[in-house]
Amino acid sequence: MSPLSLCVIAGDGIGREVVPAACRVLARLRPDIGMIEAEAGWDTFQRVGQALPDATLATARACGAVLFGAVSSPSHRVDGYRSPIVALRRALDTHANLRPVRPLGGIGRPDVDLLIVRENTEDLYIGEERSDGDTAEAIKRITRHASERVGRVAARLAAGRGGRLTIVHKANILPLTDGLFRDSVRAAASGWPALTLDECLVDTAALRLVQHPEHFDVLVAPNLYGDILSDLAAAHAGGLGLAASLNLGEQCAIAEPVHGSAPDIAGRGIANPAATFASLALLLRHHWRDADSASRLDAAIDHVLAQGIRTPDLGGDASCEQVTRAVCDAVLASR
Ligand code: ATP
Ligand code: MG
Repeated sequence: MSPLSLCVIAGDGIGREVVPAACRVLARLRPDIGMIEAEAGWDTFQRVGQALPDATLATARACGAVLFGAVSSPSHRVDGYRSPIVALRRALDTHANLRPVRPLGGIGRPDVDLLIVRENTEDLYIGEERSDGDTAEAIKRITRHASERVGRVAARLAAGRGGRLTIVHKANILPLTDGLFRDSVRAAASGWPALTLDECLVDTAALRLVQHPEHFDVLVAPNLYGDILSDLAAAHAGGLGLAASLNLGEQCAIAEPVHGSAPDIAGRGIANPAATFASLALLLRHHWRDADSASRLDAAIDHVLAQGIRTPDLGGDASCEQVTRAVCDAVLASR
């Protein structure tokens, strides 16, 4: 295995189009990085009975870095099927989910440049639900440990950019759980005294993200609020075809576009690969600490989209292949 290796999981649907495209771009940018393909998803489950085969998990662990496309989920409950991405995030302990919202290629609002840091391991996502048929309950678990460590990630990233961090919570209604989240993030952020720290109730944050997204810099939120707010905020930046994310842990990271497997357009060669490219840039910057390659990749995406080489979701008529080729060329030209 080369010193740096990437586990490549294309998954289902358009994952099989946008992930190979991103691998071609990476090969231009960092030819030293080895890429090892592994399988996961619904198709895999139907063939081998596991959505995340043991061999895939072993490869992901050995590489420490994963590029994940998208997987389809069955619309009905299927025995033995568990979402492979949720299992992978847990197995690699990627505790912070980074979702930047910023203009790319002149698309979306030019004045919005924010980053949502979403806690990635707990809250209502632990899946502890019960019901007696008439009353149903779900456990919302918040721990000091997880809140502090996502707080440290958010504070470090905020200190490296605008210097403002907003804690999102609903501690007026949930003083124990959301109160613990808020207080733990505050404690973690005290290690960065130059930060401007403020807080915002989640409902107010939603309104302000619609009306004045330009007022935010870095937001840190528990899992569920972070999920909802980042989709909302992504609308300012051109939608799903451009929305990138990175699941970041202490040892491991998973780059993953926000969109799903998009079965409605899969196989037609028109999927927008830009969100996957931008996710790869996040991996380069925050996991491999290669800010230079990350900036070159971001600039290449920006340049190609600004030239009007855009897929149909952005109103253009370019194919995934044409966008990919143009980004590869732009990356090479920036050397
Ligand atoms: P899944 O269940 O896998 O999430 P989905 O049907 O919800 O699948 P998404 O991938 O979430 O589909 O996409 C929602 C819509 O956005 C679809 O109409 C899809 O075609 C479009 N879309 C998503 N990603 C892209 C992309 N990269 N390029 C073009 N269109 C996209
Ligand atoms: Mg979806």
